[in-house]
Amino acid sequence: MANKKIGVEVAEAFGRTFIKGNIPEINETRCLGCTNCAVLCTKFGPNVLEIQDGIAKVVRPENCIGDGACMLACPTKAIFLMSKYDPANPPSAV
Ligand code: SF4
Repeated sequence: MANKKIGVEVAEAFGRTFIKGNIPEINETRCLGCTNCAVLCTKFGPNVLEIQDGIAKVVRPENCIGDGACMLACPTKAIFLMSKYDPANPPSAV
């Protein structure tokens, strides 16, 4: 059976899978506002996240490279999913 094309850009590097167009979903109940995710994302370059009112927010979704580094940095698993960013229908985290 032939593989079905699903229309995502995927790259493999550093033992990780990068899915362009995905952004982190942040559980605001679990977020401690520790800044780990935002600091790491800024150091890596994309600079997608900021802490606002003590909670991590996706403020530059267009910059996200979808590597999920923020998920690994989070001590509370507040960032548990990466989902497709659709500017016309943003998730509540945006
Ligand atoms: S790493 Fe997790 S707990 Fe810390 S600010 Fe980011 S989402 Fe919140």
